[in-house]
Amino acid sequence: MACFDPLRLSEKVEAEVYNEADGRHLRRYWRFRSSRHYGGNNAGDVVGCNLRCAFCWAWKYAFSTRGGEMLSPRDAAKRIARAGPFKTARLTGGEPTIGWEHTRRLAALLVARGYTFILETNGILIGAGLVDPVRIPGGVRVRVSIKAPTPAYFERATGACARGFEFQIKALEALHDAGLRPGIDYWASVVMGVAPRQAYESLLERLARIDPMLASTVEEEYIVLYPHVVELMRRRGFTPRIALTPEGELIDPRKLLGGVGKGEEAYHEDHHVHDKL
Ligand code: SF4
Repeated sequence: MACFDPLRLSEKVEAEVYNEADGRHLRRYWRFRSSRHYGGNNAGDVVGCNLRCAFCWAWKYAFSTRGGEMLSPRDAAKRIARAGPFKTARLTGGEPTIGWEHTRRLAALLVARGYTFILETNGILIGAGLVDPVRIPGGVRVRVSIKAPTPAYFERATGACARGFEFQIKALEALHDAGLRPGIDYWASVVMGVAPRQAYESLLERLARIDPMLASTVEEEYIVLYPHVVELMRRRGFTPRIALTPEGELIDPRKLLGGVGKGEEAYHEDHHVHDKL
């Protein structure tokens, strides 16, 4: 299966999930909720992403550009404020840097209302120099989720061409160079079990060259074996080396998922945008 260019996919997705007509900067959302992460947060989940991770927990919306509703920054801020009692707000997905002007305005609104704003991103558009989260008044916290530890495993895990891996690293470099504090203002989460341990060690060495604190504050992210995630991994012929059961037990899922077919074309099922590339 041919890999894809995540920047081209970003443009295609943005054309369908973001609308700046009349200066309203509408962005498509599929839900609002609260969760226990970060000591409790109110979250908005956006539709559409520029990667196609084989383990995506939100793939039914992240791989699509449909469903949910288009909201202005002001309306999205109200929905996030109503989603729970917390003063930490989080935008996740989907990829919240797509339709950046919406997200930038939303973050500024929430920060002005006293929220700590956390941007959860795969970093692709930041690393490409197309999005600059540092310029939001009051500041945001940025969690860059690294999907695999090397370019080859990145392509296998996300479907995006291997060179896209560098955008994730460049995002961390850009946040560092802007003077943000690693482990506080920005940090890396790394999806575990996608590659052998040595590959993770080389990634940590690379992060340490950006800033030793960046390597020492890495958040380990584990694939959770929800039925819909297992369904996607089976279609993609993807088996992680380690994963969490929905009950929270860390297991080697290779026996559970063993014998799956190779590389079934799941990409082409739920994301008509990618089909057009
Ligand atoms: S980057 Fe996140 S939202 Fe996008 S496909 Fe990967 S796991 Fe899903």
